[in-house]
Amino acid sequence: MKSEESLRTLIQGKLVSGVLPGQDCAKVLGGPSNGETCDACRDTVEKNQLVMECVGEHYPKTLQFHVRCFYIWDSERRTLGDEPACPSAPAE
Ligand SMILES: [Zn+2]
Repeated sequence: MKSEESLRTLIQGKLVSGVLPGQDCAKVLGGPSNGETCDACRDTVEKNQLVMECVGEHYPKTLQFHVRCFYIWDSERRTLGDEPACPSAPAE
């Protein structure tokens, strides 16, 4: 089990190098794992865990994540993205 900090560093590196996409996904599905490999940490999503599947038009394939990896990816890609497409807080 990787620590949250090492996962975050790993996912940041994959976002920067383009291994993981930085765009929004069109659809996110959660479901029981079938022993899939997580696209973020490359570990197996155990069968008693949920797998998050992200589908996007510009994604070469469906991305599969641990729930924890999904949330880290989701927050990191927002942090790293230059396009202020959806601001997280309203600016007054
Ligand atoms: Zn993972």
